[in-house]
Amino acid sequence: MLPSLFISHGSPMLALQPGASGPALKRLAAEIPRPKAIVVVSAHWESQELLVSGNPTPETWHDFGGFPRELFAVQYPAPGQPQLAAQIVELLKAADLNAQIDNQRPFDHGTWVPLSLMYPGADIPTVQVSMPSHMGPALQTRVGQALASLREQGVLLIGSGSITHNLGDLDWRAGPESIEPWAREFRDWIVDKLANQDEAALHDYRRQAPHAVRSHPSDEHLLPLYFARGAGGAFSVAHQGFTMGTLGMDIYRFG
Ligand code: ZN
Repeated sequence: MLPSLFISHGSPMLALQPGASGPALKRLAAEIPRPKAIVVVSAHWESQELLVSGNPTPETWHDFGGFPRELFAVQYPAPGQPQLAAQIVELLKAADLNAQIDNQRPFDHGTWVPLSLMYPGADIPTVQVSMPSHMGPALQTRVGQALASLREQGVLLIGSGSITHNLGDLDWRAGPESIEPWAREFRDWIVDKLANQDEAALHDYRRQAPHAVRSHPSDEHLLPLYFARGAGGAFSVAHQGFTMGTLGMDIYRFG
């Protein structure tokens, strides 16, 4: 059975400058069985209602600005899988979560950047599930639980976000060894609660965790963690690190 994963996707430049994350993602892909399909909840797909991408041939969306031209040339031509999208809608409905198919959705960089490092062949069908803006941690956990059974069918479930994410607090010159204490403290608190399966504290992280609001001025980059946790089994750390002083690059495995 496949695990579910939480991946900190970092800056879009990760696709060209994979640093320590690239080898970690490659190692992880080699460790787990090759998936028949991949489902991604990305921090970069927020929506009103819950949506599932049914696009059979999603384009690679360069949903960012101000990066070098060569990054805009990167393509990730993995196919979609409309049948899996339809199955996901049914699974969500069975869990009292209403969802619709979106036939137009391209791959955002929260999806294609990490997958281009894990599965560079771009030959595994990939479906995205959106994050409705009203969704907090508890609802994301439910979405993960609703889709957990897909892991038994060879589907890899990924939450793609960032363990810390404050774009106003980045130091573009900082090396991987320079880490702001507040960012590390927040990350360590989350890891401790994950290891102790303290769901109540995790769901209430914004009040309980140290430096929660500084680590996540808005919470869309942390919510994919709840999806991955809800979908998966036992927690383990696959990779830890920081870039630009405060941007956490941790990768976690559930199951
Ligand atoms: Zn992002």
